[in-house]
Formats: sequence, structure tokens, C-alpha cells
Amino acid sequence: MTKRSPPKRATVSSWFSRVIRERDEYRCQVCGRSFRGLKGLSASHHVPQGGRGALLALAWDLDNATAKCDVPGGYPRGCHAWMDAHPLHHAEWIRDHIGEERYQALKVRSVAPPKMTPELKMNIYEHLKSELKRMEALRRDGVTGTLTMEANW
Ligand SMILES: [Zn+2]
Repeated sequence: MTKRSPPKRATVSSWFSRVIRERDEYRCQVCGRSFRGLKGLSASHHVPQGGRGALLALAWDLDNATAKCDVPGGYPRGCHAWMDAHPLHHAEWIRDHIGEERYQALKVRSVAPPKMTPELKMNIYEHLKSELKRMEALRRDGVTGTLTMEANW
């Protein structure tokens, strides 16, 4: 078997963003507006994803992002910018949104994220691709609402 080289960071981030938005039904999780087929919805990180290698695990942590809008309407400048500008409100919102147990686990990972290795990066990439395929099949079957995913890879 040929050993494949790990994908580029931007490639994994692009798949991550698609997975988060599909999981959240292309709906802003704060104001509830639907953006399927439209621009203006991001996979918004809860804990900033940072730029260093060790923090990449947080960038692709499925509990560390939700779909939030980037256009005026929900809140001034969109819910993504509003939450980023109001970190205390954001933290409380996240706790309510994912529940106490997952919030506490995310808090622990935010201090000591798993070390990113080429193998972990490849596993995350493969997991994101298969999860997107699974969720797109559920949508074709008419499943609506926010989908359940394993918290991590
Ligand atoms: Zn919104």
C-alpha cells in the first residue's frame, strides 16, 4: 500500500467548515436563519484556533465550532462577529448549546490540545470526509435539524 502524504492545512479546514455547516443544517445556531445555498455562514470557532501546530487540533475539534452568520440581521454585524466580540456571552452560549459535560471537556482540551501529528491529521481528514458523506445521505433521506456527531475523531 502506498503511503499517502497528509493533506494541506487549508484542505482539512475547508472540509471541517463544510462538516460543521452540514451538521448544523446550514443554519446559524444563534439566530436560526438558514443559509443553505447562500454565502454568509461560517464555522465559527469557540476557542480561537490559533496558528501554531499544537493548536491545530482545536481548529478541527468538532465541539469547538458552530455555524454562525456573518451578515447583519441576527445581531449587528452577524452572530459570528458579535459572539467573538463578547467572549463571556459566547462562553455561556456554548455551555448552553453543547451541554455542561462537553463544555467542560472542551475547556480541558483548550488548555492541553492533543499534539498534531501527520497521522492524526490524516485521521481527522478521513473522518471529516466520511462524516460529510454520512450526513449528506441523511439529508437526502429527509433528515432535518442539527445532526449528532461524535465529538472528536
Ligand atoms: Zn445569526
